[in-house]
Amino acid sequence: MNIHEYQAKALLRSYGAPVSDGRVVLKAEEAKTAAGALDGPLWVVKAQIHAGGRGKGSFKEADAGEKGGVRLAKSVEEAEMEAKRMLGRTLVTKQTGDAGKQVNRIYIEDGSGIETEMYLALLVDRQTSRVSFVASTEGGMDIEEVAESTPEKILSFSVDPATGYQAFHGRRIAFNLGLTGKQVKQCVALMGTLYKLFIEKDMEMLEINPLIVTDAGDLKCLDAKIGFDGNAVYRHADIAELRDTTEEDPKELEASKYDLNYIALDGEIGCMVNGAGLAMATMDIIKLYGAEPANFLDVGGGATKEKVTEAFKIITSDPNVKGILVNIFGGIMRCDVIAEGVIAAVKEVGLQVPLVVRLEGTNVEKGKEIISNSGLDVIAADDLKDGAEKIVKAVKG
Ligand code: GDP
Ligand code: MN
Repeated sequence: MNIHEYQAKALLRSYGAPVSDGRVVLKAEEAKTAAGALDGPLWVVKAQIHAGGRGKGSFKEADAGEKGGVRLAKSVEEAEMEAKRMLGRTLVTKQTGDAGKQVNRIYIEDGSGIETEMYLALLVDRQTSRVSFVASTEGGMDIEEVAESTPEKILSFSVDPATGYQAFHGRRIAFNLGLTGKQVKQCVALMGTLYKLFIEKDMEMLEINPLIVTDAGDLKCLDAKIGFDGNAVYRHADIAELRDTTEEDPKELEASKYDLNYIALDGEIGCMVNGAGLAMATMDIIKLYGAEPANFLDVGGGATKEKVTEAFKIITSDPNVKGILVNIFGGIMRCDVIAEGVIAAVKEVGLQVPLVVRLEGTNVEKGKEIISNSGLDVIAADDLKDGAEKIVKAVKG
């Protein structure tokens, strides 16, 4: 689960990390008061969307002005004007895709004088099963680009959970970033704070890009991007409240209501599978036969007829879907139950595109019988390879 920059900064502030003072603006008429509540003489007006690269982004609408989603202003009036220009407009960045994202919230912040911009992140490292720090002198820019062209400029190490964060971790980062004097002490404290926050709030990622040295020589978090472990959000009522569902894919949102593991993708073949591993294998084999999956969908081991129906509705609501492959292995799940679910779903939502069904496992014969007796135009498949071949052929001709 992701949150907005202003929410992330409020969390950082509550733990004592250095961030600028700022105000969030939801309606145009709030912009003036928000900007006026800050000291100046510099204001930063920032579009709040769940995507990075805002500074270098651009708006679809001409009346939003030429500049990106992060703008400097020299007066309250200017800050108000920039906020009004961006609200309700569509910002396109490297991370939003061509469709862009509508800006519904603006953050107005006290502007900082910048000496240097650096990169800092904490993340769960799956290789070591530990929390890792990632730091680089190359801040403010695309870290993937830095990792690609100059990987030696990135420091990365993981923290032993038995000891937790220690001052030497912070010093290692400080010296690597070329910090001196009071900044080293600030860095040791800040890294400790970030680590504590990361662990206590069950984060998956915490990225500060840029972490800056201000013109006064102090460390400050100028941007903040936080992703929480969705499976742990139930433990944090305060975090759950920060969810902004308008930032989420409506199909994914619908799926989450039914406890379906659904991720929208941009291919043409909708997939309905039980089990995450089988779902991954199904997506792979679709690609192998020359098409692209429209989604990842794991209906889970205990999928009911109702769940299968909902899954079907979500898949067919995607206009990019040109064919559907149902690939179910009945282990705990019985194939006849799945078959009934599929038939019920097709009857309820209709079927405008080819449907291939591959069933295997418990009660497979019964399941196949139900499908062939249904009178529906369903293409039966024997195995994974056969299923993928048939759906790709049905879609691509
Ligand atoms: P992003 O483009 O979505 O990553 O948004 P950021 O919050 O990282 O802002 C992009 C860039 O705007 C930063 O790298 C800075 O160069 C600049 N910027 C942001 N806040 C300030 C500020 O307070 N003062 C100055 N001078 N520049 C800022
Ligand atoms: Mn940034």
